[in-house]
Amino acid sequence: MQGGSNSTLKPDPVRMANSPLDPTVPPGKATLVSQRCVVYIAAVAAVWWPGLVRAEQDPAKIESPAAGTWLVRPDQTEPKILEWASKYPERVSLDAQKTLGGHTAYAVTVTDRSLDEKGKQRLLFSQPHAHEPATTAGMMDVLAALLEGQHLDGRPTKLDRRKILGRTILTFIPDGNPDGRARAPEDWWAGQKHSNDEFIDLAFGRTKEGRRFPRQGRWSSNDRQPALLGFVYEKINDHEYVEPNRDRQSTFFKLVRRALDRGPVALHVDLHQTEFAGSQYNAMVILPFLQKELPEEIRDTNRQAAEAILDAWRRMGARPVPTAKPLGYGEEQLRYFRACWSEIYMTVPHSTVEVQNNNLRTPPAAQMQLIETSIIAAVEFVLRR
Ligand SMILES: [Zn+2]
Repeated sequence: MQGGSNSTLKPDPVRMANSPLDPTVPPGKATLVSQRCVVYIAAVAAVWWPGLVRAEQDPAKIESPAAGTWLVRPDQTEPKILEWASKYPERVSLDAQKTLGGHTAYAVTVTDRSLDEKGKQRLLFSQPHAHEPATTAGMMDVLAALLEGQHLDGRPTKLDRRKILGRTILTFIPDGNPDGRARAPEDWWAGQKHSNDEFIDLAFGRTKEGRRFPRQGRWSSNDRQPALLGFVYEKINDHEYVEPNRDRQSTFFKLVRRALDRGPVALHVDLHQTEFAGSQYNAMVILPFLQKELPEEIRDTNRQAAEAILDAWRRMGARPVPTAKPLGYGEEQLRYFRACWSEIYMTVPHSTVEVQNNNLRTPPAAQMQLIETSIIAAVEFVLRR
């Protein structure tokens, strides 16, 4: 959730069709193939994975992800990341940032290091919010597909790994706030247990009067103590807490900054989730708040990248908000965003992805699918240019 208004959905995403990175589909034919096959694919998917094509799930029937396929907590992600780094030293490099709470957040970079960096396209995928776990699950599954050749559930990947690892340098920050994620009361949010109000109260905290703790980029427990500490916040010293994507002292932001400093980044995709309460949609791309003030080339790339992600979602049967736009933030939220992001947005093309959270219409597996589709669409977009 980037902030501002929510929208959303009525989904029924189906599994992603063959993509241009699928070696079975020649580049350039993918769109045509996808269009032609869409009815067939929807029909197959209904049989193959019926949970994804229903309008709204029966709460009792929301399927929990199988063990080992939904890696979101630090004690699940860290061992896997370290295992990959030691198993594939020629393809994986890590940047790490310790947190005050005793965890380590990672930036995982994958590429074929036997090939020269020159000519490779650099992309950065990140996530700052502890209450949006499908973003982490999706990044971990894409990493598994790229490194192991199969998804975490054992399905072989259709991605052209040689092409991707040979032509890109992909950095993933799968969990920008491991302290917060470790405090999350649930591993996923599917709408069967908590109303959106309860969910957001847990995420952002409650006051002693029982109201929602006001959302702040940075706050001090010397000024005000919440009765319930929201797990979105990261404690950065003995009395201050930050929302990770709204403060440069967050662990998330330090990793993002270092990843951006490593070389020119063709596209930064920040992955989020929101509830889309009362909306027919289940996904959207948000353009930077200062989109109109950006250099023309960056503005165009932002718009085209967003369109590529929206197209990919439509092809899988999702219902994205049709057009990507900047979100209407209040002045206070804008102040945080300006301080953190203005200078970065001026030089690095950017997409903010939002996928439905805590709603019966988008169970965990579909949330993860939407995230993965946006990641692959971004990679394909950069490789096409
Ligand atoms: Zn978010």
